[in-house]
Amino acid sequence: MPDTPPASTDTRPAPDWDVLADWGRRIADWGAAYHRDLRDRPVRAPLQPGRLRAALPPAPPETAEPMAAIWADLETHVMPGLTHWQHPRFFAYFPANAAPPSILAEFVTAILAPQCMLWQTSPSATELETHVLDWLRQALGLPESFQGVIQDSASSATLAAVLVMRERALDWQGNAQGLSGQKRLRLYVSVEAHSSVERAAWVAGIGSENLVRLPASGPGRSIDPADLRAAIARDHADGHLPAGLIACIGATGAGACDNLRDLLPVARAAGLYTHVDAAWAGSAMICPEFRTLWEGVEGADSVVMNPHKWLGAHFDCAAHFVRAPDDLVRTLAIRPEYLKTHGADGVIDYSEWSIPLGRRFRALKLWFVLRYYGLDGLRAMIRDHVRWSVALAARLRADPRFEIVTEPVLSLFTFRLKGQGDDAQIAYLGRINDDGRIYLTQTRVDGQIVLRFQVGAFAATQADIQLAGDVLAELS
Ligand SMILES: *Cc1c(COP(=O)(O)O)cnc(C)c1O
Repeated sequence: MPDTPPASTDTRPAPDWDVLADWGRRIADWGAAYHRDLRDRPVRAPLQPGRLRAALPPAPPETAEPMAAIWADLETHVMPGLTHWQHPRFFAYFPANAAPPSILAEFVTAILAPQCMLWQTSPSATELETHVLDWLRQALGLPESFQGVIQDSASSATLAAVLVMRERALDWQGNAQGLSGQKRLRLYVSVEAHSSVERAAWVAGIGSENLVRLPASGPGRSIDPADLRAAIARDHADGHLPAGLIACIGATGAGACDNLRDLLPVARAAGLYTHVDAAWAGSAMICPEFRTLWEGVEGADSVVMNPHKWLGAHFDCAAHFVRAPDDLVRTLAIRPEYLKTHGADGVIDYSEWSIPLGRRFRALKLWFVLRYYGLDGLRAMIRDHVRWSVALAARLRADPRFEIVTEPVLSLFTFRLKGQGDDAQIAYLGRINDDGRIYLTQTRVDGQIVLRFQVGAFAATQADIQLAGDVLAELS
């Protein structure tokens, strides 16, 4: 019997869209209930190393399992080991808000799952990204000379900026020729800079020994412009190649802010490329009264701020603004034939502005969030957070058991138990976090351990900050 295909033995089910409809509804209800009752859960997960792995089968499943079984294990085994980042009394690190409109946008993105690397791989995604970032640029008070791209994280934006620094300093030959035989490239940062700057120096091949860490001083804990000038002159004299300044606005430890107004002209005069890391504090720049913190920012070449921290858009959403996208494209674009877009001149292929090729549809959540709250709604929230944090700092200052170590920068301040050593501070922090009603983390300021307090959760209320004050006093 020629030409008769064998009977199909393929009994695999087609993708089951009923499971999406059914579980999608259930998960939406579960999610709303989770958030409504979140205040009653301890913020930080209990720390029991190995607990989850001991509960899971050692080998992968050979046969299909029903969604209900998977879900039951999520509830039983996974949920107890999660720290609740959306908890209203999450005061640790910086926030990573995921507001309801952003959840909906991420759900849509999960359904459509487009790859947004080139304009033609989803024209609307590219154009929405251009448009929403221009909205955000206006909201932040940045001049029209900046254009934006959404990077997956501030770390990636900083790495991209450091690569531009490298390429510019090497007359655009670094990608082709590598760094061997070159002069030492030098980058200037504050001692307060985020660890992502050091990693960018590693990954870019520049090396942490060529990261010149300048002291932070004065009320804002800024690099002193005279120190920057002297460091650049010293490096020139030593035959090195000064390449870039990475300034921080709202550093992670205690909110240090470099004085952009005075530092950027020094860097520019020396021919450096300048990048401003405002990953957390940048969100607050939608409020005009806070913009004094980054006065002079219009003189930077590159600025990053994270809507995924304080504006309610899910991680990953880092807004990276640059004055000359051509520098970024010249550094990062690579164009094999299969990535060329023919017949559409003047379109933006955002993969040429970032390090990975593949890109999620990240503009959608920002578009949803900005429209759902409006800038007024977001400003009101940030102003509340700042006001409540300042009030708590005042309460602790008035209490003889505490000492405010760094004054509030926006909604972040640091404090410690007065007259006690580092071990006592760590033990105190342990009592607080084991208690579970609030969650704080620590840092070092001038060598000593301090506790950080920042308000940033979208779900936080004034009563939550009041309760935080009560817990701090009770457990002191
Ligand atoms: C959070 C933070 C970063 C890192 O942000 P990612 O988006 O997680 O890479 C970098 N710099 C500062 C100042 C930050 O607060």
